[in-house]
Amino acid sequence: MKIVLDGLTKEFENKKKNSKVIAVNNVSIDIPSGTLVGLLGPSGCGKSTTLFMLSGLLAPTRGSIVFGDKDVTHLEPQKRGIGLVFQNYALYPHMTVLQNILFPLENIGMPKDERIERAHEVAKVVQIENLLDRKPSELSGGQQQRVAIARALAKAPDVLLLDEPLSNLDARLRLQTREEIKRIQRETQVTTVFVTHDQEEAMSICDVIVVMKLGVVQQVGVPQEIYDDPHNLFVAQFLGTPPINTFAGVIKKGGVYIGKEKIMDTKLPDQEIYVAIRPEGFIPAKDGVLTLNFDHLEVMGRERSILSTHESSLKPLIRSIVEEFEETGAKSYKFNLKPHKVFLFNKETEIRISDDKVYDAPVVMKGLEQVQLEEKKENAFQKAWNKCKGVFKKKEKAEEVKENSEESKEK
Ligand code: ADP
Ligand code: MG
Repeated sequence: MKIVLDGLTKEFENKKKNSKVIAVNNVSIDIPSGTLVGLLGPSGCGKSTTLFMLSGLLAPTRGSIVFGDKDVTHLEPQKRGIGLVFQNYALYPHMTVLQNILFPLENIGMPKDERIERAHEVAKVVQIENLLDRKPSELSGGQQQRVAIARALAKAPDVLLLDEPLSNLDARLRLQTREEIKRIQRETQVTTVFVTHDQEEAMSICDVIVVMKLGVVQQVGVPQEIYDDPHNLFVAQFLGTPPINTFAGVIKKGGVYIGKEKIMDTKLPDQEIYVAIRPEGFIPAKDGVLTLNFDHLEVMGRERSILSTHESSLKPLIRSIVEEFEETGAKSYKFNLKPHKVFLFNKETEIRISDDKVYDAPVVMKGLEQVQLEEKKENAFQKAWNKCKGVFKKKEKAEEVKENSEESKEK
């Protein structure tokens, strides 16, 4: 089931302060059927509010929600064909796992035999068949979350909505369960909206990510593409561990400068900028373009992180991950920069600037009047999704080739 959000907006009145919070601000996206889409952003950016509007638990102030060909904006939650899973699994503690899964099916009046058959089917998908007689208190967090997902899947929803479903799990279970969610989604092909504030989580399992800040969509794209081609400073800084290094800089007469050093040439006009450099973008070199003051070295497995300082850096420490580094006791070291790991942003707008591409500002709604800074003709989502499908095909092909060659080896 495809989902189309058009100008979706939610305002909350704060009666005490007599003010308004625009929790979700003019969100317009098309989610193709069968996609696992991540809503990603810091706490308070409007992820849950968006999900609640999708589920029908909250009514939008403006805008519309379409599932398939049907406008569901004002449809009650029970009639939307959704499955919901929240952060706290909210299982009924006095019921067994089986009863928990059966309960919503009973509510929609499914005949008993069918109910039980269906429950066993979904239990198989999420691999909890052996736990059906247990009570929730006899399950681990990950198992409980799987039961919650089974319960949501039992009604054969057209749309699965997950709100930070992993945040109550410990690190290891979180990893395991996120793979599990990915597998279940692949198997069932149910269009899924997955809310998280954890960029690594979103990057690792989502087909497409929607990055949000203060209720406004900042960028939509395939995870790797967002990482490689961030459209504004917020997106560049939000994605990536360790995070990107940001410097104040300036463009002067065709040169990009950090402090007094010219790090690259550009055709862009003179302006104040931010220069953001991914940790993996530095190459130690005697004749390097950027000099950093050495602070200390961190060696973790095969990774070497050089921690340095620079007066133009926005953070106290700059982290560069390098393959090889010889500590000579020098106070400072020079680096060359990998051009595709360096991003420039206008200092005032924080929008990306580049020699060969024009970047749009996020589309925001101010009050009732829509301000569209740059007209967006192309549907970014469709483009991202097409690309994403291409990646799948390539992966499948690569795996096929691998399998074939393994088979021929066996022969
Ligand atoms: P997220 O899920 O991304 O952490 P939310 O969607 O929960 O963010 O909240 C978005 C914004 O809306 C926040 O500023 C939050 O304080 C505000 N908000 C959410 N629910 C309400 C409400 N019922 N009344 C007033 N403000 C709310
Ligand atoms: Mg939330």
